[in-house]
Amino acid sequence: MQAPFGTGQANRESTDLAFTDPLTGLGNHRRFFDKVDRLISDRADDPAPFTVGILDLDGFKPINDLFGHKAGDDILIQVAMRLRASMDGHSTVCRIGADEFAFLYPLVFSEDAAAEKSRMLIEILSAPYDVGERTARLSASVGCSLFYSGDETTEILINKAETALYHAKRSGRGRVVVYTREMEEAAKRVTRIEQALRRAVSAGEVEPHFQPIVDLTTRRTIGFETLARWTDRDLGAVPPTVFIPIAEERGIIGPLSQLVLRKATEAARSWPKDLFLSFNLSPSQLVDQNTGLHILAILDRTGFDPRRLEIEITETGLMNDPASAAQIVEDLRRVGIRVSLDDFGTGQSSLGRLREFHFDKLKIDRAFVASILEDRPSEHIIRAILAMCEGLGMDVVAEGIEEEAQADRLVQFGCAGGQGYLFGKPADADATLGYLRDSFRGALRAKAI
Ligand code: C2E
Ligand code: MG
Ligand code: MG
Repeated sequence: MQAPFGTGQANRESTDLAFTDPLTGLGNHRRFFDKVDRLISDRADDPAPFTVGILDLDGFKPINDLFGHKAGDDILIQVAMRLRASMDGHSTVCRIGADEFAFLYPLVFSEDAAAEKSRMLIEILSAPYDVGERTARLSASVGCSLFYSGDETTEILINKAETALYHAKRSGRGRVVVYTREMEEAAKRVTRIEQALRRAVSAGEVEPHFQPIVDLTTRRTIGFETLARWTDRDLGAVPPTVFIPIAEERGIIGPLSQLVLRKATEAARSWPKDLFLSFNLSPSQLVDQNTGLHILAILDRTGFDPRRLEIEITETGLMNDPASAAQIVEDLRRVGIRVSLDDFGTGQSSLGRLREFHFDKLKIDRAFVASILEDRPSEHIIRAILAMCEGLGMDVVAEGIEEEAQADRLVQFGCAGGQGYLFGKPADADATLGYLRDSFRGALRAKAI
């Protein structure tokens, strides 16, 4: 952008300042947008492709916290110097956010070349940084997009690079992702699912299914886990592994969860009184202080005894905001709701968490059970978890048991509870009642069902 009036020294300096990042001396986000705008208009008649990319430092915040802000600034300056040194005469790098840099490669016009250049940048940034007497290491993730036609604006290109960066970050550290049409298709599909799900939730069309949890030695059913099921008239059956994350990301999880819990407790009211019902809470629900109130209000309405309810949460749910999660868990426990730690052994398992939070139960992830017969490490891990639970006074359920031999081995190790296709697949409320009629004849007849 030209200075609007004159080209005097003072004027140029103030314009430069407005376009410069004071810490690193690189251009700022305005400079970057301006550069891309200009390149797009240069290519108006001859739209040869070019590349824009956004680079985000992985885990910069902990480094800042660990070494202090001054050291954090020094590292950012070193990052900027390395990036600038790696640009050729045509290319530009700017700092567009705290730990976000953007680059423009006018002469890089294939996805492979864009990925190659980005990997080189990550490589350059991976060498150690001097921080006083110490050294620090950093990795970075990059999202790129290519300009193909004059219809694309700077904003669209940068949004696409941001989308690619989001995918890169989601898949781990130090990754490069180049924006593709499939990503656009995937984004559209997510939006379609989101819209259909909103409608289904308000129409009350998401249903609870129930999977038995058994005492492994007697094989008696001791409770059921609630698993949400949804079949859309156009999309067909959408699995919870797809619609639950979308519900979380798009803020529908609260109403969805309330609907499923209401239906589940209504169904479970007529089961034998000694059976518990467990229910999954998503990580984002543990950041929302209303979650506890909503659950209690539903139990109140449906008349379901809170002492028969268990809430399953994962470690991810505890990590985002441990204080908020602790408060919600505390509120639930006060009325007798039990809390179990789901999918234990995957993700960010931290034993420290088991000291901070008290859980009534721990569910061993299916991944360990699946390999228990072939794999010595899995066997040792399961035995260690069982010993730990015994010491901490927690109940245990092994998930995903599909074979008799797995169940036998678990019993041999002293695991009390089990769940899996071997004992029953998730089934709807009617089928579950049928199953209970068969296995609990006496108890149900006494209730005249
Ligand atoms: P989860 O809580 O760990 O639930 C257990 C999953 O393992 C269920 O998958 C269940 O169908 C499956 N499973 C059980 N036994 C076996 C087995 O023997 N073999 C195999 N291969 N799989 C088995 P599902 O129903 O697809 O649910 C997936 C995840 O979606 C759940 O994992 C839970 O995290 C989430 N989810 C389901 N319903 C809800 C809900 O109402 N609210 C929330 N927040 N999350 C839910
Ligand atoms: Mg669960
Ligand atoms: Mg689980």
